[in-house]
Amino acid sequence: MTTFADLGLSPKVLSAVTDSGYTIPTPIQAGAIPPALSRRDILGIAQTGTGKTASFVLPMLTLLEKGRARARMPRTLILEPTRELAAQVAENFEKYGKNHKLNVALLIGGVSFDEQDRKLERGADVLICTPGRLLDHCERGKLLMTGVEILVIDEADRMLDMGFIPDIERIAKLIPFTRQTLFFSATMPPEIQKLADKFLQNPERVEVSTRSSTATTVTQRLVATHGKDYEKRATLRDLIRAQEDLKNAIIFCNRKVDVADLFRSLDRHGFSVGALHGDMDQRSRTTMLANFKENKLTLLVASDVAARGLDIPDVSHVFNFDVPIHAEDYVHRIGRTGRAGRSGAAFTLVSKRDGKFLDAIEKLIDKKIDWLSGGLEDLPQAAESEERERPRNGRDRGGRDRDRDRSRGRNKGEARATETRIETVETEEKVEVVKAERKAEGRPQNPARNPRAANHAAPRPANDDSRDRRNRYRRDEDDGPTPLGFGDEVPAFMLVAGKA
Ligand code: AMP
Repeated sequence: MTTFADLGLSPKVLSAVTDSGYTIPTPIQAGAIPPALSRRDILGIAQTGTGKTASFVLPMLTLLEKGRARARMPRTLILEPTRELAAQVAENFEKYGKNHKLNVALLIGGVSFDEQDRKLERGADVLICTPGRLLDHCERGKLLMTGVEILVIDEADRMLDMGFIPDIERIAKLIPFTRQTLFFSATMPPEIQKLADKFLQNPERVEVSTRSSTATTVTQRLVATHGKDYEKRATLRDLIRAQEDLKNAIIFCNRKVDVADLFRSLDRHGFSVGALHGDMDQRSRTTMLANFKENKLTLLVASDVAARGLDIPDVSHVFNFDVPIHAEDYVHRIGRTGRAGRSGAAFTLVSKRDGKFLDAIEKLIDKKIDWLSGGLEDLPQAAESEERERPRNGRDRGGRDRDRDRSRGRNKGEARATETRIETVETEEKVEVVKAERKAEGRPQNPARNPRAANHAAPRPANDDSRDRRNRYRRDEDDGPTPLGFGDEVPAFMLVAGKA
């Protein structure tokens, strides 16, 4: 059996890998590391979760041991589609590069340019960037790309989804042709193949099988619901309350506006909940994720784009508030639970209009998913609900289930005089997010509510990110599918503020 010691990595790197507790390389590592060390281009077809990050970080560390960085001339460049993934790669450099004295600079939106400039000035061995922020730095004349020896393009298919390909092509033109290129994608649609043909020279192709099945340890159930948002929210609340063994859960929505709405609703109903979506500033995202990982939050409402690729530990439950439009997303979502042989539960809310998406999922996973109790035909007539209207201005309307809900996951008694909350406001033209100082006086008093309100910094616009080029093209990275008509849905043009 191949071990890390067989791959040709330097002793410093090997020692850090051993300290991490890994001895056996994953298939993508075993396949990509030796040719990468021989300076070959790599076409890696693998998803996150396969050990893909180490498959480029480890050979890069070995190769970087020769030579030194010069001011403003990075030696290697890694492009990532989201800030979280960029931060995760930086963590990998920290972990595996602990025996090296390398300068790693993370250039992502939402962080001040000055701080990043200082890092670049010192000379970066490794530059990890989201494409927009990198181009902004180049345009400001702070970066010279002519010294880049290795270019990594990670998650290429997601870059395509997010409209980053023109940025990537511009960046690639700034880097010498003689560079080594390591290119990774979970899937290879024709556009990505074209890009790979353009960027790579005689690459070593390493493919690891993608998952199209769900773990057998996960109990999957469909839950019939009426289709209006307030009805779905009520169904979800009942479902969550009925789970005796719920430790923590991720709740997936298809669109980020629904993430914001659902977060607010669950929070108002007293659940311990956080949210993760593309419009939140970096600090909020990082805090939210850390709180969830540390079990300070029980529920995390997320969009696929925000959650995909994140190294979130095993959760006991996954709830699909919406049936995913892309069947593969179902597999990714469900994969958040039932890891490493543990048991997990996954519930998908299904309304009448979801039929064709459900069919696609069952076809992909090659099995029928059971209904929790009765199917859509057994649904009672739609009931009136206290949540009939969407809350305006995110004001607390005093959900009447609050007291009952308080028992779940709340940290009682941590009263705060002032709570800072971020609230979402819908306007006619767009969904605009505003920050509101929530004074205890003048608001319904409830000492047990929002014990960590500061950490609840939820849906919030990319304000400090407004200089990030990405936002000039598309503020939304997780708009999800185009809404179906005007009924209960918010039309897409209302959701993509500033897209023009
Ligand atoms: P990635 O696909 O890079 O997101 O990695 C997914 C997870 O696998 C991370 O938590 C890594 O720490 C872990 N990992 C990476 N390489 C190995 C390995 N050779 N053996 C076991 N776990 C690994």
